[in-house]
Amino acid sequence: MIELTGLKKYYDERCVLDLTALTIADGESFALIGPNGCGKTTLLRLLAGTLKPEKGTLDIGGLERGEIGYLPQQPYAFDLSVLQNVELALAGEQNRKRLAMKALERVGMEDLRHARGNRLSGGEAQRMALARVLARPRKLLLLDEPTASADILAIDRIERALSEYQNETGCTLVFSSHAPSQALRLSSRVLALDGGRIGELGKTEEVLQNPCAESTRVFLKHWKI
Ligand code: ADP
Repeated sequence: MIELTGLKKYYDERCVLDLTALTIADGESFALIGPNGCGKTTLLRLLAGTLKPEKGTLDIGGLERGEIGYLPQQPYAFDLSVLQNVELALAGEQNRKRLAMKALERVGMEDLRHARGNRLSGGEAQRMALARVLARPRKLLLLDEPTASADILAIDRIERALSEYQNETGCTLVFSSHAPSQALRLSSRVLALDGGRIGELGKTEEVLQNPCAESTRVFLKHWKI
């Protein structure tokens, strides 16, 4: 279980995240939505351990680094083949090539295995990075806008890959999205952030179809189910 209390993150003395309390259950699919700058990336980075909070407590249930898969919004690609880029996530494993191919197949990238990883389109690079994350069994997936640069077909492929992976591994999934419909398809609960604070938190369907907070209503104003 992920549990945080009184969590505050500051940049240059400006508080950008201020969460009183939040728990996310093991195996849960949890979405973060809200306008640009509301703190989604910051929260994911705190959960991934790449940032430290200035105040409060954050407990991710004793997970070790290798058990957490973090997909940043702009993932790094090495000047290697796509397959080798994915194999890098499998250091120390036997059958690295087979596991890397399986991960590429999951995200529909097997035909691009010989392409240079650092010459891919934005959407392809993001899918390659996702393959790197999904190459190992993880207990917690933290995905920052996993389909931000993807076209409709790639979005469908990625969402199916995530659902399959979660069914197989029982992992917890926390992801950010600017698309409320994606939150509806992939998550059971959603946190709508408002200026770094909890704007609204609840079952995805309820929050999206009947938002209580004014900030969520404004965010969802131009979106129809
Ligand atoms: P979101 O992912 O919802 O777009 P972020 O978590 O990226 O929001 O950013 C939250 C706030 O923190 C924004 O106002 C952003 O400008 C600020 N911020 C993020 N990273 C830094 C940084 N490294 N230095 C200073 N301010 C930052």
